[in-house]
Amino acid sequence: MPVMPLLPAYRHPGGQLLVWCKYCDRFHRHRPPITAAPRLAHCPTNGDSPYTRTGYRLQDAGDAPAEMIKAADRQELRPEGRQW
Ligand SMILES: [Zn+2]
Repeated sequence: MPVMPLLPAYRHPGGQLLVWCKYCDRFHRHRPPITAAPRLAHCPTNGDSPYTRTGYRLQDAGDAPAEMIKAADRQELRPEGRQW
């Protein structure tokens, strides 16, 4: 059985949570609240991210640093047009 990963979730001042995805090499955004419930990964379903199979849980990492907010807000849209 694959283990469900626990990923740090940083609080964006806009109200969403930023989660760095090492497979997509970008931030995914999720809605609060942070609970123990598994989240559906925002990875492309036609990609090879293991998160697509397992989902992941979020761990509160506090407020996002300013540089992280800038990077997340600057990232290019995905091919299908989604920002996260
Ligand atoms: Zn991803």
